[in-house]
Amino acid sequence: MLSKNKAVFLDRDGVINKKLPNDYVKDWTEFEFLPYVKEAIKLLNQAKFKIIVVTNQAGVGKGIVKKEQLHKIHQQMMDELKESGAHIDGIYYCPHLVEENCNCRKPKPGMLKKAGKEFNIDFKNSWMIGDEPKDIEAGKSAGCKTYQVTTNEGLLEIAKEIIREEL
Ligand SMILES: [Mg+2]
Ligand SMILES: [Zn+2]
Repeated sequence: MLSKNKAVFLDRDGVINKKLPNDYVKDWTEFEFLPYVKEAIKLLNQAKFKIIVVTNQAGVGKGIVKKEQLHKIHQQMMDELKESGAHIDGIYYCPHLVEENCNCRKPKPGMLKKAGKEFNIDFKNSWMIGDEPKDIEAGKSAGCKTYQVTTNEGLLEIAKEIIREEL
């Protein structure tokens, strides 16, 4: 029998890259990694967590960010991580507007559940990390442990704490 995988689900804006005030990241020139994110992801890779990005991107539904642009941003993000020896296993995004009432937009756990099936995830031993209450709510609904990023605390500290908790 295949054993299940543990995962760290990461919100994107405000966790991996700097949030733009009142704007969407529309192309790669607007994407800025937060400090020590690459190191943090590398540590979590080494600790055998699947790294899965789950991000609301309503800018796509609004027509502000083109799907092709978003895919390009994600490809470059993964390429740059790879150069640092860090690896993202999957990226899920919700392109919908709030009004569309889809199942994937956080605080709903749709993206986590989809990834859970595709990666055979054991939610009990997995984490959702985000900078907003809706991230935390989505993680809890999926049955994950959760961690809300504060401005004073980077992903590296959180990654270390998660790994420490496993010991
Ligand atoms: Mg965020
Ligand atoms: Zn959606």
